Amino acid sequence: MSESTRHPLAKIVSITPSSIDAFSTCPRRYANQQLFGTPSSDGGPANAHGLVVHDLLHRIHTAGSCHDAAIVDAALAAADQDTDVNRTLIARHARRCPVDHDRAFHEKTYVRFHRGQPMFLASARYDAIWVRGDIVDVREYKTGVKWFEDLAEDRRAVLQAWILAERVHRSGKRLRLRYEYLSPEVDEDPDVWEPGDDDLEALTDRIHAIVRAMHASDWRGVHEPTVCKWCPYRSVCPDSALPGAPIWPVLGIDP
Ligand SMILES: [Zn+2]
Repeated sequence: MSESTRHPLAKIVSITPSSIDAFSTCPRRYANQQLFGTPSSDGGPANAHGLVVHDLLHRIHTAGSCHDAAIVDAALAAADQDTDVNRTLIARHARRCPVDHDRAFHEKTYVRFHRGQPMFLASARYDAIWVRGDIVDVREYKTGVKWFEDLAEDRRAVLQAWILAERVHRSGKRLRLRYEYLSPEVDEDPDVWEPGDDDLEALTDRIHAIVRAMHASDWRGVHEPTVCKWCPYRSVCPDSALPGAPIWPVLGIDP
């Protein structure tokens, strides 16, 4: 390990679904984002429309139900987003959205601390949590491509489950995760995942293994064209397989 790439983590590392995903994809990408604070040199995949759809669903569920046409119309008008595409995505969501529930939480962040060494603090923001009888039904709204058929393989889903699992099981309820793929290009959602009591220790071990790997990392990049292609640091990373010209703004006074 060279001294120049050595950069220790905080003793108690803070992790999120996207930060462990970045680390597991490429340690250098994680370090640029979380440790070095490097400004992006390149555009990543555009997600502006995904944010609009999340905002619309938040507005709709805060005001009432996605099954109520007047509520949907009002939210689309208020956000100035009344388009066929948005109506299609909301209708595809509504087919899967529970009609009855005891309690609901939208766009909320939850945190869980792990005392085992090395310690870590995990947090995640949840699109929707529907409490229905003995089920705590966690939903994520997805507008992009589907990467996993099995949510238990998706490390972001694993962390989301882990953060809530202990409290849900202690309350005698069952935790269920479902990713709703709203784009018509995705035919089927991955199977609903319901981690059982037996799985909780294995989930802790999987996340702990990632945190241990972070502490041991020399933050070297993976140097893979398929990974570097979408990296927001590909033009300034010493390990980049696809360096280009940074998109940073220039002053524009050169001759
Ligand atoms: Zn809904």
